[in-house]
Amino acid sequence: MALPLTLDKIDMLLLKALLEDGRRSYRQLARIANVSTPTAEARIKRMINSGFIKKIGPVFDLAKIEQGVSAIVYLKVDPSIINDFPSYLSSLVEVRNVLLTTGEWNVIVRIACSSSDDLQSILDSRICNRDGVSLVNSQVITRTIKDEQGLVLTDNIRISMKCDYCGGEITGALFKLKVGDGERYLCCKGCLNSYKEKYGTRIARIERARLSS
Ligand SMILES: [Zn+2]
Repeated sequence: MALPLTLDKIDMLLLKALLEDGRRSYRQLARIANVSTPTAEARIKRMINSGFIKKIGPVFDLAKIEQGVSAIVYLKVDPSIINDFPSYLSSLVEVRNVLLTTGEWNVIVRIACSSSDDLQSILDSRICNRDGVSLVNSQVITRTIKDEQGLVLTDNIRISMKCDYCGGEITGALFKLKVGDGERYLCCKGCLNSYKEKYGTRIARIERARLSS
């Protein structure tokens, strides 16, 4: 049992080192954060297993690409579809960011596509033709000066976690269950027991496979 994940100074050092270079090994990361390699590995895995680190992948310099059009599009979306429409938007591969905001233009998206004709056709035939959606404005990006992730790393960032059994937010103590190399997070003893009951056979199988490999 432990409190829901709060990131401390060590996590921050590891994250900053990973942001600078995602190819760093656990050993290199450990040296930077001044901890042992197993500690660095366990910390990173914890942030991955909790869903906070979604992926580690290449970051492109868009200025190096000569083709293509990017635009910021401001939409006014009716409250009746505000729960479903953003996930529809997210399913469009050309839509790269979906932000819900306060105010009258309540959805902002960034679209990347091959040409301004392409942009127009995406807007006309896939976004603005939906009931309850109106286009407020769209602006083509002429140059990107800075494009970083939306989180400034500071100490004591709390990661919200959902119970792997009931799906509810974990607010109090956290119940952890080791499954193979990963972990499952449960909100209470009841969910922990129900989870074990439901997936017991599978957990045992994963564990056997892990031990025999
Ligand atoms: Zn639960």
